Amino acid sequence: MKEEHKNQATLILIKPDGLKKSLTGNILTRLSETKLEIIAAKMVRVTKEMAEEHYRHLKDQPFFNDLIRYLQGELHQRKKVMALIYWGEDAIKKCRSLAGATNPEEAESTSIRGSYGRITTSGLYENVIHVSSDPLEAEREIKLWFKPLEIIVDLYPKKKITVKEKEETVWA
Ligand code: UDP
Ligand code: MG
Repeated sequence: MKEEHKNQATLILIKPDGLKKSLTGNILTRLSETKLEIIAAKMVRVTKEMAEEHYRHLKDQPFFNDLIRYLQGELHQRKKVMALIYWGEDAIKKCRSLAGATNPEEAESTSIRGSYGRITTSGLYENVIHVSSDPLEAEREIKLWFKPLEIIVDLYPKKKITVKEKEETVWA
């Protein structure tokens, strides 16, 4: 029998504070310690709807509005995030462990969040990176941030549809 490793996918976001602090290369270098494979990557301008959907599990929290503005880049004059998918054995655990605890003050000092995160005066955790929390959340988040053909591995079932009269922007 072929040995099957339990490959997992996780969404990674380099949040606007990570981009503003020029940490992209640094964070990707740290994540490369996992030996996981990057199977998708892009820069995204985050709409309010995207941010609210991404963090919908926190919509009753007092910091929700700040969190949405944070992910949209309104706190850092950087209206973009870098979205990636890492794939391989135990991807979620490996990436979350390198990221460190949600609260940057409690995160191990050598972790990504422990090294570069901060708590704002209003109490929001600016922790430079997002990592999915479990496989179900990863699937939900990956389907929110990426289209099937943007991912170079077949992760989830997909289908073809015919879209008529859809406006598209192409090169002039
Ligand atoms: N967050 C916060 N204060 C909290 C909890 C969360 O500012 O008490 C922010 C923080 O930026 C965190 C994000 O909300 O990364 C999502 O929270 P979650 O509990 O999902 O933590 P994560 O999965 O990012 O570690
Ligand atoms: Mg989470």
